[in-house]
Amino acid sequence: MDNKNLKQMAMWGFGLLMLLFLFNSVKSTVPLEKEIPYSEFKTHLRDGAITEVRVRPDLLRGAYHDEKGGLQAFRTLPLNDPNLVTELEGHKVSNFQGEPDRSWMSGLLLNVGGILLFFVLWWFFVIRQVQVGGKQALSFGRSKAKMVDEKKKKTTFADVAGCDESKEELGEIVEFLKHPEKFQKLGGKMPRGVLLFGSPGTGKTLLARAVAGEAGVPFFSASASEFVEMFVGVGASRVRDLFEQAKKAAPAVIFIDELDAVGRHRFAGVGGGHDEREQTLNQLLVELDGFEQNQGIILIAATNRPDVIDPALLRPGRFDRQIRVPLPDLRGREDILKVHARIVKMSPDVDLAVVARRTPGFAGADLANVINEAALLASRKDKEGVELSDLEEAIERVISGPQRKVKLMSEKERKIIAYHESGHTLVAKLLPGSDPVHKVSIISRGMALGYTLQLPIDDKYLTSRVDILNRLAILFGGRAAEEAAFNEVWTGASDDISKATAYATRMVTEFGMSDKVGPLSLRKPDQEVFLGRGISDQNMYSERTAQLVDEEVKRLVTEAQAKARELLAADRKALDALAAKLLDREVLNGEEIDAILRDARA
Ligand code: ADP
Ligand code: ZN
Repeated sequence: MDNKNLKQMAMWGFGLLMLLFLFNSVKSTVPLEKEIPYSEFKTHLRDGAITEVRVRPDLLRGAYHDEKGGLQAFRTLPLNDPNLVTELEGHKVSNFQGEPDRSWMSGLLLNVGGILLFFVLWWFFVIRQVQVGGKQALSFGRSKAKMVDEKKKKTTFADVAGCDESKEELGEIVEFLKHPEKFQKLGGKMPRGVLLFGSPGTGKTLLARAVAGEAGVPFFSASASEFVEMFVGVGASRVRDLFEQAKKAAPAVIFIDELDAVGRHRFAGVGGGHDEREQTLNQLLVELDGFEQNQGIILIAATNRPDVIDPALLRPGRFDRQIRVPLPDLRGREDILKVHARIVKMSPDVDLAVVARRTPGFAGADLANVINEAALLASRKDKEGVELSDLEEAIERVISGPQRKVKLMSEKERKIIAYHESGHTLVAKLLPGSDPVHKVSIISRGMALGYTLQLPIDDKYLTSRVDILNRLAILFGGRAAEEAAFNEVWTGASDDISKATAYATRMVTEFGMSDKVGPLSLRKPDQEVFLGRGISDQNMYSERTAQLVDEEVKRLVTEAQAKARELLAADRKALDALAAKLLDREVLNGEEIDAILRDARA
């Protein structure tokens, strides 16, 4: 039990004592005495039965021997009886005395006591409740941020799996939080804000918490949607409060979840501005700009919509570091399962690699759920440990369960994507001079279902005609592979097609790379990228030129498509091998690709 609980207990104890005391004092004014008329009192007096009397102006009390000889307490209302004392003496009542008038006290207790009781109860139930639960009912502007002292319940990088690159990038932040003075001495500039982006449940919150845990600093977390839920002005003051709290505890990590709730592009969305959001966003910008880089505070935010974040937030000195938290690949999923299997009893013959294979597209949170569900299932069946069958049933449950929103891909779809990405990769490998393929993956990323990542060997300032033609062919490699393998095409290539069209159009209208059109700039003067005939200024060039542009663009893309088809057809065995391996492994790096191609052609 911690301090706060003890204090609360003491409060309750005190309150209870008060109540008891009140009750008793009220009770003692309740007479056990027999109420008798004054005449009866006089009769008892004359009979010599009275043993003692206490006299008050408004009340006369005492005791008398009743007929059975027992002592009976009594009370009666005194009359104006000036001879009472004489009579008492006359009847040998040895014990009579006056009593100060305390009637006001019982009256007070009865009346004020009630009010007091009411206040005490009200204080306990209303005020304390409100103060304990969230603070905000009485102080709307206070941040609801939860502070977690990471020394107690430490989350570390070991708890996060399947996103090694993200962890690596965050390592520097941890170093900074551990030794802010070191960075200060060197004058190094640290980022103030880190934006983690990725699908829901990929472990963004977990990573942020692990950064605090690794550095051993406090962790403040709040959700941006809470900032904007109330009245105008509340969000801004909550942001201020959050930063104030963190500054007091620095070095510290502030985590803001769902940044897009406030950080949405100011002009995005229907209906234009949203006052509250904008004020909150402005306050956030003020805070971000306001704190000194060496104050030891790192702001980490998370979103699954990086595309809608206001660019103002991404400027240098703000969230100038953006780290992707990807969906885990096969290996990553196995590692995440292992992390969560630590706390449940697994049957020794369970191979988590099998489970990983069965769960493509699952995020970390889904996998945590699988383990959890499986443990529940196993315990319901009174098993010694979780068996593979439990895990399989759990996978089904998670897929159909309420939490999961991402639709799972069918095996056929995965195969199509594997061929599509292999097509891009193979064409890139076959065209001399194109950028090396760094990685190919069928794990979806943002809107893309898979991706082929090419990285240039060195930064280029100039792009040649051949470079662009190569790019076009690579873009068509995806669809060409679909055709080759399935004799059918799918919508997935639409992004490739639009990119290819844009490149080809620029070749013709901007770069003067078409002999037929000639070295003309047909771009609208204040338009960054020429977007095709539809938007073009009609006075810019003649109908004939427009037609020529269309023909040239079409020729370039068709030639690129033909080139891609031809290359893939000539190396079909390599394409099949690549696709099969990709389907199996989900991600391949450059060396692995080279090895597969070598084997297939041997
Ligand atoms: P996000 O913030 O990206 O939506 P969370 O960090 O809230 O995701 O993840 C929810 C839970 O899912 C975590 O508490 C953890 O149990 C599990 N989880 C998610 N990603 C991972 C991961 N990469 N490694 C281990 N567990 C994970
Ligand atoms: Zn593609």
